[in-house]
Amino acid sequence: MSNLIKGKKYEWETVIGLEIHAQVKSNSKLFSNSSTAFGSKPNSQVSLVDAAMPGMLPVINKYCIEQAVKTGIGLKAKINNYSVFDRKNYFYADLPQGYQISQYKYPIVGEGKVIIDFKDGSSKDIRIVRLHLEQDAGKSLHDQNPKKTYVDLNRSGVALMEIVSEPDIRSADEAGLYISKIRSILMYLGTCDGNMQEGSLRADVNISVRKPGYEYGTRCEIKNLNSIKFIKQAINYESQRQVEVLEEGGVIEQNTLLFNTSTGKTRPMRSKEEAHDYRYFPDPDLLPLEIDQEEINKLKKTIPELPDDRKKRYVEDYNLSNYDASVLTADKLVSDYFDNIIKSDKTLKESSKIVVNWLTSELFSLLNEKNIEINNSPITPENLGRLVKLIKEDIISGKIAKDVLVEMFNTKEDPEKIIERKGLKQVTNTSEIEIIVEEVLEENKKMVEQYLSGKDKLLGFFVGQSMQKSKGKANPKILNEILKSKLSKKH
Ligand code: ADP
Ligand code: MG
Repeated sequence: MSNLIKGKKYEWETVIGLEIHAQVKSNSKLFSNSSTAFGSKPNSQVSLVDAAMPGMLPVINKYCIEQAVKTGIGLKAKINNYSVFDRKNYFYADLPQGYQISQYKYPIVGEGKVIIDFKDGSSKDIRIVRLHLEQDAGKSLHDQNPKKTYVDLNRSGVALMEIVSEPDIRSADEAGLYISKIRSILMYLGTCDGNMQEGSLRADVNISVRKPGYEYGTRCEIKNLNSIKFIKQAINYESQRQVEVLEEGGVIEQNTLLFNTSTGKTRPMRSKEEAHDYRYFPDPDLLPLEIDQEEINKLKKTIPELPDDRKKRYVEDYNLSNYDASVLTADKLVSDYFDNIIKSDKTLKESSKIVVNWLTSELFSLLNEKNIEINNSPITPENLGRLVKLIKEDIISGKIAKDVLVEMFNTKEDPEKIIERKGLKQVTNTSEIEIIVEEVLEENKKMVEQYLSGKDKLLGFFVGQSMQKSKGKANPKILNEILKSKLSKKH
C-alpha cells in the first residue's frame, strides 16, 4: 500500500516525528512528596515546592528516575550515566515557578528504537532520538466561571517522560501504530498507566510534506493530542493542507498549531517569530544526575517480558503469524489471558490458532457488548480452554459451542456442566444420524430427483435439513459422509 498523497499536480510524502509526553506512574511528584492521584479536589495535592514558594528546594524522587531508566531500556535505548536538569524559562499563570525543570542538552536516555508491525506481516523500525524527564505544569480551568479563569496546581510537578522520535513516520496509520506500540511497552513496564483520556499519554505531532526523494520540507507542530483517532485525523488534515499550499505556489511557515476536535481542522497558535526563547540553563538547585552502570544493570534485571519478546515467543512456540502475535501482545491483559489459556492444558498448544479465534472474535464481542475488560471476564481462561478442547474432541460442534460460550458468559458455569444440563453433546452415533438422513430424503423426494439429475448444489440443502432435525447436534463430518453415500446409492 502506498502512503503517498496524490495532489492535483504531484505525489507527496508525509514526514512525521512525534514528541510523546508520558506521565510517570509513581505515587509522588518528580521533586516533591505530593500525591499524583488523578481527579482529586483542585489544589489538594500541592506542596510548597509545587506552589514555588520562595526558598523551597526540589528533591529528586529516585523512583521516577528508575521508571525513566526502565523505560529507556524498554525502548532499546542508550541510558546516559550523566544527565542534567535545566530550567526552561517562560511565564504562564499555571506555572508558578516561572520555569519548568526539564532536561535539554543532557537527557537521561539517548538513541533507541521501536518496532511497528503491519497487517501484511512486515515491520518497520522507528528511531528514538531521546527521552528526557521534566515536570508537568498546572492547569488553567476556563469553564468554572464565565468571567474568571481558575488555576489548579495538582498536576504541577508531576513527572513526565518526553519521548522524541526521529522523523521516520510516513503516514497517519504508522503514527497510530507507533503511539500504540509505545503505549503498550510503557504499560508492560508499568512506567506509565497509558490512560490517554486522563492525559497520562499525549503527543505533539510534527508534520511536513515533500516530493519523494527530496529533502525534508518545513514542518508544523500540532500540540497536545490525547487520542489516536485525533492524531490520525490531524495528520490527514494537516498533510493535505500543506500539499494544497505548496501546489498553489505558497510556502509552509513553521507554525505551532492547535487541532480542533469538533471541526477536524488545524489552526495556528503561534508562528516561529513568536516562539519562546526559553533561556535554558542548568538548575542551580539540582546537581547533575549520575547513575552508575551497576544500578542500570540492576534495573535491567527487573524488566518483564516485553511485547516484542512475547510476539517472538508466540510466533516460534505457537506458530502464530507475526501480525496475529502483534495484535495479541499489544494489550498485556489480553496476552496474559491467552498465556493462561495455553498454560491450562498441555494439548492446547497445538490448537493455539483456534484459541486465538475464540478469544479475539467470540469472547471479545461478548465483552465489548457488555463493556467489560478482559481481566473481569466472567469466563476464566481455563474454561475457555476447556471449551476449545471440547470442540477439538468433537464433543460439541463449533456452532453449538457459540451458544455454550454465551451461556458460560451469563452463568459463569463450566462448559461441561452446560452441555450436560442442556443435552448438547454431539451425536456421533452413525445409526442415529442415518435415521435422520433417511427421513429428510424421504420428505424431499422431488429435491432428491433434481439432485440426481445434476443439481449438486442441493447437497447443502439436505445437510441443512438434517442438521436442523438433529437440533444442530449431528457431527457434521459424519452427517456429510452418510448423506453422500445414501444419495450415491440412489443412482
Ligand atoms: P525542536 O528542538 O525544535 O523541538 P527537534 O529537532 O527536537 O526540534 O524535533 C522535534 C520533532 O520534530 C522530532 O520528533 C523530529 O522528528 C520532528 N521533525 C524534525 N524535522 C521534521 C520535519 N522536517 N518534518 C517532520 N517532523 C520533523
Ligand atoms: Mg522539541
